Amino acid sequence: MKVLIVEDEPSLREIIRKALQNERLVVEEAADFATACEKTGLYDYECILLDIMLPDGNGLELLQRLKKEGKRDRVIIISAKDSIEDKVKGLDLGADDYLAKPFHIAELTARVKSLIRRNNNGSNAVTLGNVTLDNTTFRVEAGGTPIELNRKEFDILRYFMHRPNHMISKETLAEAVWGDNIDQADNFDFIYAQIKNLRKKLQQAGATIEIKAVYGFGYKLVEL
Ligand code: CA
Repeated sequence: MKVLIVEDEPSLREIIRKALQNERLVVEEAADFATACEKTGLYDYECILLDIMLPDGNGLELLQRLKKEGKRDRVIIISAKDSIEDKVKGLDLGADDYLAKPFHIAELTARVKSLIRRNNNGSNAVTLGNVTLDNTTFRVEAGGTPIELNRKEFDILRYFMHRPNHMISKETLAEAVWGDNIDQADNFDFIYAQIKNLRKKLQQAGATIEIKAVYGFGYKLVEL
């Protein structure tokens, strides 16, 4: 689950990044309008935290672009201008939520989590076959048997479980789980190793789902 922080204030960006990383989210940052445009053009985010006043542009304009391009990234506006006009304009343009600065970091993380939960049809857990993965407690089990996963294995499985029967390229998976600096990597052997362990753990727990390799392309999660 990737979140993009669009915020020009470095210290605030840092605080938000740390808080969201504690929630085990993959966090990326954009310090200005141009970078935010570039990143949102190239990648999809589960949630975008969007400052309005940026040194080289206006966050509301970015929001407008996203909607025009039909992007489905959720957006929470974080604005120093606690004006009702900004709030109304942002929500009119399709923002999902609005938080006025200064805010308590706990409130921000709660809103982000709530938005992600809404994306997942109101549930913290996702189930496929006999496997349930809980996004809040980070527990995974197959038919009641707990499966111990490391952080990356969990993130990979979470990504797949939200996209069953979809072909996922190694590049897409790498970018979603490791962040956007990884998609320039020369090879994706590190993914192969993580997936291999994950498959073994699923199999040992008697899971009725399997991550299948699609030769020359990537992977697909299927129910057995
Ligand atoms: Ca600002």
